[in-house]
Amino acid sequence: MRLIFMATGITLLVFAVLQVFNDHLPLALFELSASVVLLFSARWIEATAYLQWFVYTYLLAAFSFFLFIIAAPGSSRSAFVWVFMMPVMSYLLLGRKAGFFLAAPFMLGGGFFFYHQLAALDSARVMIDLLNPVFCGILIVLFMHLYETRRSDAQERLVLLAQTDALTGLSNRSYFQTTLSRTINEAGRSQNRFALVLMDIDHFKQVNDTLGHDAGDEVLRHIGERLSERLRNTDFVARLGGEEFGLILRDVDRAQARALVDELRQRIENHRVAYGDTHIQVTASFGVGFWPGDASRPNDLYRVADRRLYSAKHAGRNRTVDRDDAFTEPDTASKGL
Ligand code: GH3
Ligand code: MG
Ligand code: MG
Repeated sequence: MRLIFMATGITLLVFAVLQVFNDHLPLALFELSASVVLLFSARWIEATAYLQWFVYTYLLAAFSFFLFIIAAPGSSRSAFVWVFMMPVMSYLLLGRKAGFFLAAPFMLGGGFFFYHQLAALDSARVMIDLLNPVFCGILIVLFMHLYETRRSDAQERLVLLAQTDALTGLSNRSYFQTTLSRTINEAGRSQNRFALVLMDIDHFKQVNDTLGHDAGDEVLRHIGERLSERLRNTDFVARLGGEEFGLILRDVDRAQARALVDELRQRIENHRVAYGDTHIQVTASFGVGFWPGDASRPNDLYRVADRRLYSAKHAGRNRTVDRDDAFTEPDTASKGL
């Protein structure tokens, strides 16, 4: 936007000077003032919280000005070329949908004024003069539309890729951190609580050491599926790295979180992972922290859950710890592999 403001400001400055020599003093003054506003705004546009308003105001003013210079009596015969800038600018600044709906009526308006300035459509020559800009305009809109569609699809794919763990297809650590901070902000506004759960597979190294890394990968994928199939729509699960997973359980009290986590723990323990001729059984340990009871900031809450996960490991694994002073007995003894 800054670059566009500066480029338009300088362009208008050039035209203001030319209009002085062209004896169009009011237009020259108008262009000069618009240029000053644009160059001044370019200085602090980066800091504004109302960028969208700036974009719409700028586009509406620019497009109206284009129409004005096309329609003004005695205006330049080539002024209509600015119509071709309309789809380029609005698709660039507003995206596909809003870009099209803003540019289309102004382009039609430009076409209308251009048509009225043509001689009567009584010769092939005039017909060609009309159809040149018409087809050019249609093609520019078409190309901008295709380009913007592909660009936004590619961007969506990139964003998804940057948030996803390649092995399990779950969200990755960085997206987990973003989601945790966002959940805290939302929960703060709506006075809702939530639980942060950290989970680590027990003795996972043994799976790799005895059956190979591929077997370990298969277990990780399997655990990812078990976690996501049980969670509610509002919950969030991510692979934080290695054999560690993170969960955010929204709107739960201590008892509900405990019940949900213990069910997950039992599911993991009871589902054996088929790998070649063998079946692999793993268990996992869980540490749970509650917002806002245990901590209010993301890092502090993470540390609480991590400390409790460590306690669960220390107390024998395959269990859930959701407070600092008590351990929960596992349903079965820690089995590891
Ligand atoms: P603990 O019960 O104390 O958690 O023991 P552990 O063996 O699970 O923990 P440790 O930290 O000793 O070992 C984690 C292992 O996870 C070591 C590493 O080789 C393995 N690992 C980490 N990332 C991957 C992965 O993407 N694929 C596979 N197959 N293994 C991984
Ligand atoms: Mg482990
Ligand atoms: Mg670990």
